[in-house]
Amino acid sequence: MILSYEAWEAVRDERKLGYVAEFCPVCREIRACRLLRVGESFRAAPVNGAPPVVNVVRCEHCPFTMPVDALVYASVAKRPASNIEALIQETNPEIRTKLAGTLAAAESLKKPDAIISPGLRQSLLLEPFQYLAGPMEVMFRRNKKVDRPTIISGIGTVALTVLLMGGCAAFSHGSRDDGKWFGAVGLAILVGGLFTLVQHALGTKRRVRTEFIPALAQALHPLKPSQEELQKCLSTFQADRWRLGKEIRPDQLWNAVEGSKLAA
Ligand SMILES: [Zn+2]
Repeated sequence: MILSYEAWEAVRDERKLGYVAEFCPVCREIRACRLLRVGESFRAAPVNGAPPVVNVVRCEHCPFTMPVDALVYASVAKRPASNIEALIQETNPEIRTKLAGTLAAAESLKKPDAIISPGLRQSLLLEPFQYLAGPMEVMFRRNKKVDRPTIISGIGTVALTVLLMGGCAAFSHGSRDDGKWFGAVGLAILVGGLFTLVQHALGTKRRVRTEFIPALAQALHPLKPSQEELQKCLSTFQADRWRLGKEIRPDQLWNAVEGSKLAA
């Protein structure tokens, strides 16, 4: 299941409503998820039969995001409880009964001697890619997170500007000198500003490395995929022009899956 692009387009103007317990198919566990109301500026009815997005949940452990009917939750917690059981009781007490089959399947997959039929294995391999393709599109369109390198270059720009302005006040003699100092201030703002923008753009790519690849590796490692299988999954998304297929290199993913095998 890949939600159509139009549905993801509506994931904007988010309003944070709180936290609920929900099953995350990428983590394959019940997780604390952020409940968001989106799409207030939703203009047209979505095409391709995509559901009109009103509420979505986003996993707190990985980038998985999906539209939900918020009415299914008993309540919405203000904070993500430190204990998932408490959050389940408060927000989604029936989840274990409702998703008994899904939870049992997820649990059996974690066993080292899990027996999986080839057909099921094929769909399980593709599943995490399908779930993360949409969230990655949205992230590239509107990455609002400002990470540390972006903040550092922003602060650097401001500091340099202030320093040069101070220099101007302290050392400038006459109006010709002023001109040079102002030129330097302008240059600092321009170069520093551009550098900060570049850092923000690179920040989006950094999030592929720090959020998407680890989530995929975690989901794939119980299936022990071969390098060729990973290559095949990614090329399916390349063919459909999803960013997921373009931004993740097969060897990168392979190394991450191998790494999570060692960590397990
Ligand atoms: Zn998750």
